[in-house]
Amino acid sequence: VPLVLTQFLDRAVSLYGDKKAIICDERVFTYKELNDRVNGLSDGLRKLGVKKGDRVAYLAPNTVEMLEGFYGVFQLGAVMVPLNIRLRPDDYLFILNHSESKVLFVDQELYHLIQPIKDKLDTIEKIIIHYHDGVSGEINYDEWLREQSSEPFDREPLDEQDISSLLYTSGTTGNPKGVMLTHRNNYLHALSSMHHLRVSDEDVLVHVLPMFHVNGWGSPFYYTANGATQICLRKAAPEFIFDAINKHKVTVMHMAPTVLNSLLQYYEKNVPDLHENIRVVIAGSAPPPAFVTRVEKELGWEFIQVYGMTESSPLSTISVVRSHLKGLPQNEQYRMKAKAGVQMIGSEVKVVNDLGVAVACNGKEIGEVVVRGNGVMKGYWKNDEATMETIRNGWLHTGDMANVDEYGNIEIVDRKKDVIISGGENISSIEVEGVLYEHPSVLEAAVIAVPHEKWGETPHAYVVLREGEQVTEEELIRFSRENLAHFKAITGVTFVTELPKTASGKIQKVQLRNEYWEAVG
Ligand code: ATP
Ligand code: MG
Repeated sequence: VPLVLTQFLDRAVSLYGDKKAIICDERVFTYKELNDRVNGLSDGLRKLGVKKGDRVAYLAPNTVEMLEGFYGVFQLGAVMVPLNIRLRPDDYLFILNHSESKVLFVDQELYHLIQPIKDKLDTIEKIIIHYHDGVSGEINYDEWLREQSSEPFDREPLDEQDISSLLYTSGTTGNPKGVMLTHRNNYLHALSSMHHLRVSDEDVLVHVLPMFHVNGWGSPFYYTANGATQICLRKAAPEFIFDAINKHKVTVMHMAPTVLNSLLQYYEKNVPDLHENIRVVIAGSAPPPAFVTRVEKELGWEFIQVYGMTESSPLSTISVVRSHLKGLPQNEQYRMKAKAGVQMIGSEVKVVNDLGVAVACNGKEIGEVVVRGNGVMKGYWKNDEATMETIRNGWLHTGDMANVDEYGNIEIVDRKKDVIISGGENISSIEVEGVLYEHPSVLEAAVIAVPHEKWGETPHAYVVLREGEQVTEEELIRFSRENLAHFKAITGVTFVTELPKTASGKIQKVQLRNEYWEAVG
C-alpha cells in the first residue's frame, strides 16, 4: 500500500465518523461531515480543470476551510501551496507565479493582499473566497461548495513519492525557498510524531501554530489519523487560547516560543483556571531555557522541545528525558528538556565538523547538524543548485550549529549566520538571549553581532521590556556579565517596543541587523 495522506482521513471517518473533528468559530463538524466537504471540494476542483500535479494555493488563517483543503487537494493528486498570511502583495506575486499555481483560495479578510497583484498573476485561473461577504466579485466558497457532490470521490491513483505540497520556508534568513515534500515524507513524519507525542483519540488539540507554516501544517495529519478533536483559532492571542483551553478541555498544544511567552505573561496577570487537562506543550524554534521551568512549575504542563526545519517535514529531534535518566536531579532534567534532544524515529541526526566527522559528546565541541531520513524533502522547487548545496551525499545540511552532551542530547547553539565571532571566539546568540530572558524586567530579547574595533564583532541586544518596567542599558550589560563569560556579555542595548517577527513567530534578526546599520548610518 503506498503511503498516501488520504488514508489518514479515511481512518478517522471509519473509526470516528460521528465524533467531533473540527471546531471552528461556533461551527462543529464531525469526521463524516468533514469528509463530505472534502469530497465536494475535490469534485469542484476537478470541474475547474485541476489535474494531478497541479498546484492549488491557500491564503487563510486556521479555519475548517483551510484544513479540509489538504484532503480535498490530495484526493486529486494535486499539490497544496499554503501561503504565509503575513507577507506583502509582492511576495504573493512571487510565490504564486513561481509555484505556477492554478487555483487560489483566499480568506475574505486577506483578499485585500491579493487584489493589487491580481492582474499580474500568470497562472491563476480562479480565485475562490472563504467567508465571502459579497463584495469582491470572486467565487463564493460556500455557495460553490454546496453545488458539488459529497459522494465518495473517484480518486486519482497516487504514488507515495508524488509531491503533496510545496511549502515556502519562513524567510528568516532571506527569500523563502519552495520545499517539495512528498506523501511519503509527510506520512512517515506523522507516524513518528504521533508516536513520540503519544497522540490518541482522547486528545483535543488547539491549532495555535499556523497551518500554512510547516510546523502547524504537519499536525492535522496525525491528529486526524487518530480521531482527535481539533480547534481552529483565527488569532493566537492568549485570551483566545485560554478561552479555548477551558471551553474545550484542550489536552495538547504546539506553539512558537513567542506565543508561549505571551501565554506565560497572560497567566501571570489573569491566572485563568481550568487548564489541568493539558498534558503537554510542544515548542520548537529555540525556546529560552527559562520557559521550560516556568511551563512545568507554574503552569504544571509537561514541556517538550522539538527541532526541525521545512526541508525535513519538519521534525528531526525531540527533547524527552529517557527513563534511564529520570534519576538525575530535577534541574538537570530541565536543562535536558531545554535542548533539541535526540533523533526521532525515522530520522538520523549527526553533528559534524568541517571534515564531516561527528563531534565529541562533551557538550563543548560545535558542528553543523545534518539530517538523513524519511522526512527529508525531494528538493527545492525549480532550484537544483540550492538543492545540491543543501543535500550532499544524502545528508541535509541544516545550517544550524550544535553540540552534543554526554547523554547524546543535541543542543542547537545558533544558526551559522547568527553566530557572533568576537576576538576569534564563537558566541551563541541563543545562549546570550537565554540569560537576558532571566532578567525580571525583560519581556523579549534578540542578540545580533555588531562591529567592534578591537574584537571584530560584539553581541548587541534588542530588548522589549515588560509593561511598567524600567531598566538601563548599563544594568542589562552588568547582568549579562554576571551570568556569562565576560567575552560573551552584551556591550550595547537598543530598547524597542516590538521585535520584527515572521508569521510563525520567529524573530527576524536580518531585519534587526538592517535596523542597526540604518541607525548607525
Ligand atoms: P529560511 O530558511 O527561509 O531562512 P527558516 O529557516 O526560519 O527560514 P523554517 O524551516 O521555518 O524556516 O525554520 C527552521 C529553522 O528554525 C531551523 O533551521 C533552526 O534554525 C530553527 N529551529 C527550529 N527548531 C529549533 C530549536 N528547537 N532550537 C533552535 N532552533 C530551532
Ligand atoms: Mg531555513
